[in-house]
Amino acid sequence: MNGAQDKLKVLFASAEAAPWAKVGGLGDVAAALPAALIGTAGSALDIRLILPFHAEIKRKNPTLGYLGAFSVPNQTGVFSAELYVASLHGITTYLLDSELTNHNSPVYYGDPALDGRKYAAFSVALLEAARFLDWQPDILHANDWHTALAVYALKTLYQQDSFFKETRSLMAIHNLPFNGYGSEFAMTELGFTPGTYEDLPDWARLTPLPLGIAAADQIVTVSPQYAREIQTRDFGCGLHEYLEKHHNKLIGILNGIDTRLWDPAADPYIPFPFTAADTNGKTLNKAALQRELHLEENPDIPLLTVVSRLDHQKGFGLLFDAIPDNARKPWQLVLLGTGSQDLEARAEDLMRQYPQKIVSLLRYDEAMAHKLYAAGDLFVMPSLYEPCGLSQMIAMRYGNIPVARATGGLQDSIINYHKAPDEATGFLFTEKTPEGLVSSLNSAILTFQEKETWAKLMNNAMNKDFSWKSSAQNYWSIYQEIKSKRE
Ligand code: ADP
Repeated sequence: MNGAQDKLKVLFASAEAAPWAKVGGLGDVAAALPAALIGTAGSALDIRLILPFHAEIKRKNPTLGYLGAFSVPNQTGVFSAELYVASLHGITTYLLDSELTNHNSPVYYGDPALDGRKYAAFSVALLEAARFLDWQPDILHANDWHTALAVYALKTLYQQDSFFKETRSLMAIHNLPFNGYGSEFAMTELGFTPGTYEDLPDWARLTPLPLGIAAADQIVTVSPQYAREIQTRDFGCGLHEYLEKHHNKLIGILNGIDTRLWDPAADPYIPFPFTAADTNGKTLNKAALQRELHLEENPDIPLLTVVSRLDHQKGFGLLFDAIPDNARKPWQLVLLGTGSQDLEARAEDLMRQYPQKIVSLLRYDEAMAHKLYAAGDLFVMPSLYEPCGLSQMIAMRYGNIPVARATGGLQDSIINYHKAPDEATGFLFTEKTPEGLVSSLNSAILTFQEKETWAKLMNNAMNKDFSWKSSAQNYWSIYQEIKSKRE
């Protein structure tokens, strides 16, 4: 495969891509995976990214080229869209603007109907963008509900369209419960009709993610364990029967992290660089953070850290409920996150109650995130479910040992001290209770006091390969398989 016409052409559609637009892990993945795939496939792959031109990207003002305007059909006629091009981490990246995707909108409104309108329109317009470019993708790689309707459109609105005749689709599930419910009105306006897939439940027939899942040639979820879990009633969000029945087109591929961006030896955000061989800088980062946040500056007090969206999914109920009964023990907690109002209020209350121990930083702050990963001893991640999770991998790379629930990608990426102490990189617990978390935290804190054992844990964690290399290789194989399935 050498000539331009032989390249495999992939349109990678996402709502987020760091650093231009990042709300959670999807932003990291969309920023890193296409570049990692080029690293694997080289000139055999032409992968391009497409994003909505969110207000926050406009504010960041990347260097852009204006490509032109084109029309997108809807039920009453057409709407107009504009396309810009830029380069993000060396990947050709299109930014799509239109009145319906809303010129000045946030990445997510948090309102199902408004988000439904924005992303249903984006999903159709991104296909029209490919036509406008006269660039026929071999594969549409859609991510989460926001772009799932592009996959569904290929099998419905665009089924007879010769331009997309050869286009196959991969639907990546980063978070199954966020399914785009509430988009019905927007979908109808764009001309979509309810899905007729007989294995889908009724509620799913005008819901973007299940329709993308049903229409896709391949479903990928972001860890092998989550791929198994979503075939069960507890994790399947009403789609477990569908997913179990169609498990042949479902595979789990663990996400990676951008190891150049997350590198304790060369991280511009942290004052003292360090490596697995010499962790002295980590001790200095911890002292600097304790000083900055007016916590007692003491290397022997275990510093617990959290960097997360404040969402119930992340198990904050377990953590917050556990604090009052354990407030006398020696630990400090720094929590960085924004999200649901009730969790923000609880985090603030706890800081007020225990000002010597707890600091809650209720904001999105990239620099502080890096400092917390670097300074922390223990990274607390008691997620109720976790499709993959990147934070625990970043934490391990910075020698910040995770204490996490054994679910999804946490289970796949952390080696449990209780199961394999010699290779361990963290602590896993299974009970969905504050007691389960506390018992795991207690043994982590005890282990923290055994200096040699702790040094070994840090060394194991920091030396683990969390790069995208092997996962990109898996995606590349899947792309080739999907392409070869073309009839
Ligand atoms: P999710 O995708 O469910 O939000 P992940 O663990 O996959 O969770 O990814 C979270 C990403 O977002 C990580 O890169 C983490 O560092 C970052 N992040 C989350 N909250 C914040 C915050 N308040 N400030 C800075 N970065 C954050």
